[in-house]
Amino acid sequence: MLNGKTAVVTGGTRGIGKAIAYKLAGNGANIAVIATRETDAAKKVIDEFASMGVKARLYTCDIKNADEVASTSEEILADFGQVDILINNAGITRDNILPSLSTMDIDDVIDVNLKGTMFVTKSFIRQFVRHRSGSIINISSVVGLMGNKGQTNYSASKAGIVGFTKSVAREYGKKNIRCNAVAPGYIATDMTDKLSDEQKDMVKSQIPLGTIGSPENVADLVLFLASDSSAYITGEVIKVDGGMYV
Ligand code: NDP
Repeated sequence: MLNGKTAVVTGGTRGIGKAIAYKLAGNGANIAVIATRETDAAKKVIDEFASMGVKARLYTCDIKNADEVASTSEEILADFGQVDILINNAGITRDNILPSLSTMDIDDVIDVNLKGTMFVTKSFIRQFVRHRSGSIINISSVVGLMGNKGQTNYSASKAGIVGFTKSVAREYGKKNIRCNAVAPGYIATDMTDKLSDEQKDMVKSQIPLGTIGSPENVADLVLFLASDSSAYITGEVIKVDGGMYV
């Protein structure tokens, strides 16, 4: 389905990003992963992608640093030649009620989730324009649409991604570049593992399908949006949340 194409996946060493990269690699795409650290576990993940017969490389880069993003994107383009798919997945949480959020809690979440997504997209957009094709998929969240107690910083960053996605779709549609957002609900990863069992049961009780989602559930939707099966879809925000926010 994606044979010969190259995908950049930020945060592709763990959780949802790893499942996305795995799914794209399984469908023939070469994979450039961006993460903050080159741990043994991260290296193993990249080896796993490469063992599927595609080219796979890990780039360490803090996406909240615009200069690092610019040099990393140049490196990726030099290594892979062309990028066809960009998945802005990397994200963090710093949860607390509003009065208890430090300035750093607010800055970090906005800087990584929103500004990082903008920096990475900006760094690849000219080459998408040059090739008159590209699919950009930004990982937002249902809480960016519905809000959430204790996540004002995170929800604002994810709502910002929605506005960014729609604007990129409008700005680059005529160049055959699509930009869509995916809004996952509650997905089992390191990020959500921090919640207590009581909190997890509370969340589950609010999900019509009654179960917590898997990273693969998100990856299935991302594959569709990355491929030509979604050729006439742009500027959309699609939830994958078990009905959590119907
Ligand atoms: P994880 O915490 O499991 O993984 C986060 C990934 O992002 C890691 O690979 C991490 O790299 C990378 N990352 C974090 N900060 C940076 C940075 N500054 N620069 C580059 N890479 C960075 O998260 P999830 O898989 O749970 O979440 C993935 C995305 O999905 C996030 O955007 C999240 O907000 C969103 N989401 C998650 C939901 C869930 O329920 N899990 C629900 C809705 C949305 P490293 O390993 O090097 O730290």
